[in-house]
Amino acid sequence: MAEAAYDLAIIGAGVIGLFTALFGSRQKGRILVLEPWRIGDSRAASFSLTRSIRNDYLDPFYARLAFEARKLWLDFQAESREPFLIECGCLNIARVSVTPDLSQTYAEQSHRVLHGLGLRTHAFDRGGLRERFPQFDADIGRLDVEAGLLYVPPITASLLARLQTAGVTLEQATPVERIHRRAGRIVIETAAGERLADRLVIASGLGSNDLLARIDGCQLQLPLRPDRPSESKYFVPSPEQRGQFTPARLPVFAYLDVGIYGHPMLEGKTPGVKIGYYNPPDVRRQTTSVTSVQSFVSQCMPALADARVLDVEGVDQCSYDLVADDNFILGPIPGVPGASIGTGWRGTGYKFAPIIGRTLSELAFDGTSREDISRFTPERFVRSHAGQE
Ligand SMILES: Cc1cc2nc3c(=O)[nH]c(=O)nc-3n(C[C@H](O)[C@H](O)[C@H](O)COP(=O)(O)OP(=O)(O)OC[C@H]3O[C@@H](n4cnc5c(N)ncnc54)[C@H](O)[C@@H]3O)c2cc1C
Repeated sequence: MAEAAYDLAIIGAGVIGLFTALFGSRQKGRILVLEPWRIGDSRAASFSLTRSIRNDYLDPFYARLAFEARKLWLDFQAESREPFLIECGCLNIARVSVTPDLSQTYAEQSHRVLHGLGLRTHAFDRGGLRERFPQFDADIGRLDVEAGLLYVPPITASLLARLQTAGVTLEQATPVERIHRRAGRIVIETAAGERLADRLVIASGLGSNDLLARIDGCQLQLPLRPDRPSESKYFVPSPEQRGQFTPARLPVFAYLDVGIYGHPMLEGKTPGVKIGYYNPPDVRRQTTSVTSVQSFVSQCMPALADARVLDVEGVDQCSYDLVADDNFILGPIPGVPGASIGTGWRGTGYKFAPIIGRTLSELAFDGTSREDISRFTPERFVRSHAGQE
């Protein structure tokens, strides 16, 4: 007797694949998740300790999408045993001595975007900032209020528990060798044998091109590029100072014009205040006096000057999945009926995971999605569309 087919097979068990499985399991019967490594492998981007959740994008489309995703996180948290969303806000700062034109800084521009969308945002001048957040030495602060941190371990645990309850099959250490069609079904040849499915979602992060190349007849290859933060450090404050660096007093913070972002420390969960240095491609680069995490601390966060410094290890050493045109890749795979893909989150995908998972599940089962994802279509990289013929 032929093996029964899964209603949906998902390849890749990062946060995107797991949320796709969760939403898929609400739609229909048998769901399979295939993972070549093991859940939590530090080569996958999704298994860090903390991830920021914020709305403060310069592009209103992403800002609104992040806010919609946040609603789904709150729903997910309400059904989870342990809370994981820490609503400390996200503060964007700027200093005249570093970026002289304050009106053009990321802080000011993203504040205007949030304001335009009717999202909660608060403006501080130097005096107000000093009073509310004395950890910083800056001339302006713009607080994205409905933002903060996601503490990752309970999220992963909750996702896995819920998938198990829903009867989703999760096969780990099961690399995919080839994908083709037989008698109207999708055949996934794995190291452990064949798996049959009616629908397919690829959520394989930086492994997406490898997987696309394994689909018979699929011409699509994506302009994905790995890129890493230049530096990522934990600043461990002295025990007397710690109180001012936990989320009750310190928000997530960023000075994105100069490539700096940071997370407050979670007492007993993270070693210290995490500060990364990276210039994302959607932010204009300029030459300033901030050229490292240390130079940021000495100029903008002197309260941490005496803290012990540790390297951030594990997942946070892994890479962002950058896209040539700097937009997410989400939609049907051209020329492969019943298959969709989601990747290219450009180092910012975790916060969007529930809404992306819901969208991938809708694409699989309904062939359409409630979110307008036309600008993310993989079709844009098909040669004729890209005007490369
Ligand atoms: C250093 C760093 C900091 C970040 N900070 C933030 C942040 O603060 N806030 C935020 O929102 N986002 C952040 N992100 C981004 C976020 O973590 C990622 O966008 C998100 O985790 C991507 O999830 P994913 O499921 O697509 O990918 P992954 O978690 O990488 O999972 C991909 C899965 O595909 C599997 N796979 C890989 N290769 C293959 C293959 N050839 N065949 C089959 N399967 C394969 C892997 O085993 C893995 O399970 C950060 C990312 C990094 C790297």
